[in-house]
Amino acid sequence: MDNIILISAAGAGKGTQAKLLKEKYNLTNISVGELFRSIAKTGGELGKHIAELQKAGVLIEDKLTLEVVLDRLEKPDCANGFILDGYPRNLEQAKMFDEAVKGTFKEVSTVILLEVPKEILMQRITGRVNCSSCGEIYNEYFDEFKKPGYCNKCDGDLYKRDDDNEESFNRRYNTFMTTVQDAIQYYKEKGILHVVDASISKDYTFSQIQKIIEGKND
Ligand SMILES: [Zn+2]
Repeated sequence: MDNIILISAAGAGKGTQAKLLKEKYNLTNISVGELFRSIAKTGGELGKHIAELQKAGVLIEDKLTLEVVLDRLEKPDCANGFILDGYPRNLEQAKMFDEAVKGTFKEVSTVILLEVPKEILMQRITGRVNCSSCGEIYNEYFDEFKKPGYCNKCDGDLYKRDDDNEESFNRRYNTFMTTVQDAIQYYKEKGILHVVDASISKDYTFSQIQKIIEGKND
């Protein structure tokens, strides 16, 4: 059984890899961001509290985050192993989580860090354009266009999301790197950190992840 933590900055393809892992190894994929969004929608006491914090742009407390994650891991679909995406985000969360799951089936065996150079991440994020008509997503740097500014599929207008700009990217990237760095070091010292080059292609990235997981089970 594998319990995996996936760490990467936005744009490194974490969601895609989580999906591939889930399909190949029958693991349950838990995106903590999505988990919070779905709880916020339920409208219960916890849901209301979370919705308020999100609305105010305030980070959810470490202790509450831990409780929500642990509660989710109790569900039967996690018994065969799980992938945690978007948690832990800092050293404090990493330590709290470790302490709470020690000696249980929830203990994490593998931490995978998807590494992509900052310049490439920047191009992936700031080059993103969306079709206003069919919703197709392209990248100005990596895709070719039959007619610049228009969708290859349906000829609809392409537009860029407001927060896909350089300034916003830099802010998000720097915040992420500063807070997650100590957690990465912590897992490295525990001997369970694996760094994967995620800058080439999604297939290449996944082949490296498979080697890590299958090498471990020998
Ligand atoms: Zn289109």
